[in-house]
Amino acid sequence: MAKLRFQALGELMNRAPKEVVFPGKMATDYFGELVFGKAAMAKYLSRDAYHAVKLANEKGEPIDRKMADNVAAGMKAWAIEHGATHYTHWFQPLTDATAEKHDGFIDFGENGNMIEAFSGKLLAQQEPDASSFPSGGIRQTFEARGYTAWDVSSPAFIVGTTLCVPTIFISYTGEALDYKTPLLKALAAVDQAAVGVCQYFDKDVRKVHANLGWEQEYFLVDQALFQARPDLMLTGRTLMGHSSSKDQQLDDHYFGSIPERVTQFMIELEIECHKLGIPVKTRHNEVAPNQFELAPIFEEANLANDHNQLLMDIMKRVAHHHKFEVLFHEKPFAGVNGSGKHNNWSLQTDTGVNLLGPGKNPKGNLQFLTFLMNAVAAVYKNQDLLRAGILNASNSHRLGANEAPPAIISVFCGSQITGMLDNLAERVTDQKMSPEEKTALKLGIGRIPEIILDNTDRNRTSPFAFTGNRFEFRAVGSTANCAASMTALNAAMAVQLEEFKVDVDALIENGVKKDEAIFQIIKKLILESEAIRFDGDGYSEGWKVEAAKRGLTNITCVPESLTKYLDPQSKKTMVSTGVMTEKELHARVEVEMEKFTKKIQIEARVLGDLAINHIVPTAVAYQTQLIQNVQGLRDIFSEKEFNELAGARKELIKTLSNHVSAIKLEVGKMVEARKRCNVLEDETEKAFAYDKEVVPYLEGVRKHIDKLELIVDNEMWPLPKYRELLFFR
Ligand code: ADP
Ligand code: MG
Repeated sequence: MAKLRFQALGELMNRAPKEVVFPGKMATDYFGELVFGKAAMAKYLSRDAYHAVKLANEKGEPIDRKMADNVAAGMKAWAIEHGATHYTHWFQPLTDATAEKHDGFIDFGENGNMIEAFSGKLLAQQEPDASSFPSGGIRQTFEARGYTAWDVSSPAFIVGTTLCVPTIFISYTGEALDYKTPLLKALAAVDQAAVGVCQYFDKDVRKVHANLGWEQEYFLVDQALFQARPDLMLTGRTLMGHSSSKDQQLDDHYFGSIPERVTQFMIELEIECHKLGIPVKTRHNEVAPNQFELAPIFEEANLANDHNQLLMDIMKRVAHHHKFEVLFHEKPFAGVNGSGKHNNWSLQTDTGVNLLGPGKNPKGNLQFLTFLMNAVAAVYKNQDLLRAGILNASNSHRLGANEAPPAIISVFCGSQITGMLDNLAERVTDQKMSPEEKTALKLGIGRIPEIILDNTDRNRTSPFAFTGNRFEFRAVGSTANCAASMTALNAAMAVQLEEFKVDVDALIENGVKKDEAIFQIIKKLILESEAIRFDGDGYSEGWKVEAAKRGLTNITCVPESLTKYLDPQSKKTMVSTGVMTEKELHARVEVEMEKFTKKIQIEARVLGDLAINHIVPTAVAYQTQLIQNVQGLRDIFSEKEFNELAGARKELIKTLSNHVSAIKLEVGKMVEARKRCNVLEDETEKAFAYDKEVVPYLEGVRKHIDKLELIVDNEMWPLPKYRELLFFR
């Protein structure tokens, strides 16, 4: 029975690292060579077409049909020259993966001959038969059509022999069916709102864009071992497995030297990424054995997110070349660290100013303070929305569960900023400020020391931390499409900045001077949102108590968190900014509820199967051996001797029996619970029921299996153990 495990281990012993062949050039030579970016466009497009794309990109101006034909022709010529034979609209449906349907360039020409065709129409819009993507009830089957439409702001690229055109994905009636559409809307909303506020400081600002620098954490496991673990294959995590005697206790993996096989994987991955214009830069070991991280240089948020989605795809492919499987799950192994995807976020003007970076002079710093404080306030008012965007079945194993960051959303500002905010709140008065007071205040914030830049971070327990020139949203899960968190955050910031402007303008209209008005509203925000600022240990029990006192929410139940998409504040944020309609918001919740239910359902089924088909028979077989052994002892020894000798073995037989019975009982109950839940029709009710009635059995059954793993003969145990999965070297 344990054949597969030992075969896998045997294969593993014989693996040699696969040497990667370097392209023989510097990364700067091949960076972006598979991207239809500025350089390629300049070469393959007419001057007019190039200009049209540029305008569409910068000002959102539509590209007319003739021009689209023109762009398509250039794109096709470039793609074919780079070995492409097919094209696809590449989009991000509400699943955990990107979608693509490849069509060949070949077509019949006018004379029935074969030609290579790719028109502006095909570039701009397609109608995939989309009835099998999640829609949350928006798209009835009789309206099965969905549209994909070209996202001009993210350049096309080539993977293998396919030209991929990034697109949004919407229903026949115009509702978003993907992650990208609301993200683009949220980015437009924050652009508009931020430009409005920037006018107080610099009239030249015309555009503000959000930056995103993600940090992708992941595990690697050997492919043969992976294939011997049905739970990893089907659910992305181990549903059972006793912890290894040694895992991360000695802190010897983080930043440790990278094993050779992994290094070769990383080298090939980086080459592939660079060809595709993904600016990956950093690689290192993470805390848990076989856990790693990769981070790029930050980019505009929409592009950065496309790059992250693309990266996850490439990683899986490249990993196979090295006989690895990549695990993106937030908690593939119980008891060791899980994986996240920190979202580093900032706002930047078209004049080149990072609005979340301390300025070089008092004016710059008042602007910095304005954006910093609005971000803090946005997070305070939208805690539940932000959490709803990141808490799902897999991330629930991290947030507020076995591992922090906690499910309480708080903001870490660091001691300097905190001191500055507290000081400001004290010194700004409601009375008219004297010019001296104003100058003193401005000078006060004008002296934000450079050192902040190096000094702020390193509170790793905060879910949302200011790290010198950006905020780092750390609670995002490693499987996530960053668009969900980035949509919520940028929409929240947009609403907050709009409110800020309304308040400041009202004071100015009442005769208060601009700077003073800004100070007063900043002070109001500091006081209002004080509760969200927390620099202490977010993992501590004390924080839970303190946070409750402060009125912060702490929601670990996924369905409950999802319902918060629909509370008044979330609706205000999402709907008033035009990011989503109410209908879309409801649909999104339904999709997410259904996803939660299905994931738990699959885990429960896999666990049930493995328990009954793999574990119970193994335990029983071992027990039979023991029984035979005991019978043998009785045959050859006197009764007195036998009683002395067989006691421990008889105990073991009993223990095995108890675990086997318990597993059978619990699996039976779990199946019954599933049946009860499955008859519920409402997706929300069903998700709540699954959470309450099915989830507890996952742990319950596992506990007995893990105990058995410790006592059953190693030679008989069918599944690769944690020590094997985590230490393949
Ligand atoms: P750490 O692990 O210490 O947080 P990393 O270097 O691994 O740092 O990752 C930091 C990420 O933050 C990188 O993707 C980096 O490009 C990004 N980043 C740096 N500055 C900004 C900024 N102003 N806005 C957005 N992202 C940023
Ligand atoms: Mg970080």
